[in-house]
Amino acid sequence: MSAWTWLVYLIPLVLAWTWQVTRRRTVASKGRDAHIQAQRTGLNEPVSLHPTINALCVGCSECVKACPEKEFNVLGMIDGKAELINAGDCIGHGACRTSCPVNAISLVFGTAKRGIDIPILTPEFETNVPGIFVAGELGGMGLIRNALVQGTQAVEAIARRRQRRQGMVDVLIVGAGPAGFAASLTAMSLGLKYVTLEQESLGGCVFQYPRAKLVMTSPVEVPIIGKLKITQTSKEELLEFWRNVEKKTGVAIKYRERVESITPRGGGFLVRTAKGQYAAASVLLAIGRRGTPRKLGVPGEDLSKVVYRLVDPEQYSGQRVLVVGGGDSALEAASSIAESTNAKVALSYRGDAFVRAKVRNRERLESARKTGRLHIVLKSQVRQIAPDAVVVEQSGKLMRIPNEVVIVAAGGIVPTDFLKNVGVQVQTKYGTA
Ligand SMILES: Cc1cc2nc3c(=O)[nH]c(=O)nc-3n(C[C@H](O)[C@H](O)[C@H](O)COP(=O)(O)OP(=O)(O)OC[C@H]3O[C@@H](n4cnc5c(N)ncnc54)[C@H](O)[C@@H]3O)c2cc1C
Repeated sequence: MSAWTWLVYLIPLVLAWTWQVTRRRTVASKGRDAHIQAQRTGLNEPVSLHPTINALCVGCSECVKACPEKEFNVLGMIDGKAELINAGDCIGHGACRTSCPVNAISLVFGTAKRGIDIPILTPEFETNVPGIFVAGELGGMGLIRNALVQGTQAVEAIARRRQRRQGMVDVLIVGAGPAGFAASLTAMSLGLKYVTLEQESLGGCVFQYPRAKLVMTSPVEVPIIGKLKITQTSKEELLEFWRNVEKKTGVAIKYRERVESITPRGGGFLVRTAKGQYAAASVLLAIGRRGTPRKLGVPGEDLSKVVYRLVDPEQYSGQRVLVVGGGDSALEAASSIAESTNAKVALSYRGDAFVRAKVRNRERLESARKTGRLHIVLKSQVRQIAPDAVVVEQSGKLMRIPNEVVIVAAGGIVPTDFLKNVGVQVQTKYGTA
């Protein structure tokens, strides 16, 4: 072969090789930067089920491409291997595991540093307390489809062993997220006497997604509704669909009623809420893992102007709003009100920097602050809430700030304590399946 022929073959080969190496380096450096950023902001800590990648990884990046939450950089490539980067944004779809051609990925709960409490359940979703069942994300498996399936199956199991007790409903369902909603529809379709109690509103975690969030799910059979063929939709469309189902079926859900305690009574359970009490032969806990919003515990917190979640920023137009908290939801609430309305927003946080929040939320906050509509009050604590003002303490000084709305975004109380009080045994998982 002549030197020219060699060159004709060699040049494209060298070019292709150089392109491949440069691309790999760029991807690796992006992955490394994102990893450092995630470690700095604490986003490398997974919330629940998440992947671990073992030494078999061949660096094909199929898992990175398959991840439905790729806009959040949940997975990335570092030094030719896949890595879990923004683990805090992983919701356990499991698409990475299925896409891996060499079985290098397993899905696990918790990490060596941070254990996750998972209730111990029978295959029929019953806990160690006979008559108390768990379905949905509380049991460890996230995702809308899993919650719908488990809610249905748990109530079917309850119906199979139904023991009618005088003066008691057959099942009391706690929570109206996907698991509790499917459970309620199942109870209705099987003719069980049921009560469903929800501390907030229909949809559970889905209601809390960011506006217009793309929801990825897979087809599932739900009682009364039939086959739900949705694979991709928006948060708003999904909630609208469920509200229509609720209206058409007449499934009964009592909202704004939080279950506070469950105690054994008369062969069943006495369930207490702030509004009353119920006797139930069995209880299904479908309370998810998000917990209950943390309260400030200050005088005036029971005023109707105090809320624990931002639903629609537009509703605060022209008002003076105080947002309390330093995590992502506080920063998102404060920024979105300041960006989309002419409200005057103050953000009170007891820390001296927003180290827990994502970088993109900190940047968004800074841009909103520069418009002059958002005022940040660091190292401060709310001491009192009055109908027309809030009293905030900063460095030992009390300030009275005129105000119409307080949004408390101070995190949630995890459901583990609730489970323990009910007597449900949990197993702490440190990075195991
Ligand atoms: C940002 C984000 C995006 C996601 N995106 C997707 C996605 O695209 N696709 C997907 O499949 N999954 C997604 N998920 C996961 C999915 O939303 C959850 O796995 C699912 O909602 C779990 O359903 P659940 O019914 O078990 O619990 P939840 O949805 O958490 O519902 C629990 C309900 O119980 C209520 N409750 C709690 N305690 C009490 C009490 N003491 N008394 C009365 N009521 C109580 C709560 O108010 C809540 O309404 C996402 C999660 C998040 C956080």
